[in-house]
Amino acid sequence: MAKDYYQILGVKRDASPEEIKKAYYKLAHKYHPDKEGGDEKKFKEINEAYQVLSDKEKRAQYDRFGRVFEGGPGAAEPGFDFQWAWGRPGMDFESIFGGDFGDLGEMMEEMFNFGTLRRRKDLKKGKNIEIDIEIPLAECLKGREKVVTLYKYIICSRCQGTGAEPGTKISECFSCRGTGEVQQIKKTFFGSFTQYTICPECGGEGAHPEKPCNVCRAEGRVKGQEDIKIWIPAGVDTNQVIKIEGKGEAGKRGGKPGDLYVRIFVKKHPIFQRKGDDLYISVPISFSQAALGDEIEIPTLEGAKLLLKVPAGTESGKILRISGKGIPHFSGYGRGNLYVELIVKTPKRLTKRQKELLEKLKEEGV
Ligand SMILES: [Zn+2]
Ligand SMILES: [Zn+2]
Repeated sequence: MAKDYYQILGVKRDASPEEIKKAYYKLAHKYHPDKEGGDEKKFKEINEAYQVLSDKEKRAQYDRFGRVFEGGPGAAEPGFDFQWAWGRPGMDFESIFGGDFGDLGEMMEEMFNFGTLRRRKDLKKGKNIEIDIEIPLAECLKGREKVVTLYKYIICSRCQGTGAEPGTKISECFSCRGTGEVQQIKKTFFGSFTQYTICPECGGEGAHPEKPCNVCRAEGRVKGQEDIKIWIPAGVDTNQVIKIEGKGEAGKRGGKPGDLYVRIFVKKHPIFQRKGDDLYISVPISFSQAALGDEIEIPTLEGAKLLLKVPAGTESGKILRISGKGIPHFSGYGRGNLYVELIVKTPKRLTKRQKELLEKLKEEGV
């Protein structure tokens, strides 16, 4: 267990939701970073613990596994996203703290307002993009590059993303002196807090283009096409997600671009079945091949044929292993195996001669 959330909040493992809430308020108040003697790291830790322990489902999961599983591509990034918890749209303090706290909810909102600083920076960030790519099974054998054309926000080529007409200046916002935020001192019964709000003059940018770009109207980005090269490694499997940093939507006016998430779908093969990194194939053999033994040709995913020895006295359904002819292991060297299931065919349409021969075998008791 990486972190003991109960210990962080100073409550017992069987603490009631009310006890957890109470402990959280006390500590959040004590360590709020805008307060004297505040501690941002500790404050975040407290919030992380509360975010899990105040949620019935997450708490149960944490009690069982010692961590909380989150879905979606964002979950690939380790650590707790503070902004997610407090900056999630549609989640207001009213709903977190409930009506029973009355003014307290409002006050907590004030306290946590420093979150707007982060949100402001994220305002310019481009969105992430998620796409699906379907590849044939044989393409899992070797890494390869794919080029996809995306229609998305790209950096405006006229202003190079600055949002200003070429040759014109970008000047600092007079109101916030370039910081993008304005300060206010708020008094509450918890004490005084410095509250930061987005500068109303510049919308948090800290600057204005003197003359907005004619093409993007000061956005710094336009809708357009971009060809993106995607390296698909050997051994990928369905539902694997490849992250390509910075290839999502372009940010507003020089903001950070989003990321591109590529979800892989491997098409079903008409002959080969994939299970993990192993491949399975069914191959028909005749009754006489099964009884006497033979050497047969087996197809491989690469295309080349392989010779396989069928032992004498093979039963239908016998599986033979050809090692190293499966899918390459995604992480590391080597490949899975190819498993060949031999199916003994019972002859149906017989020629006169075949019938005679089989009759003789029958007399022999075969
Ligand atoms: Zn432009
Ligand atoms: Zn400003």
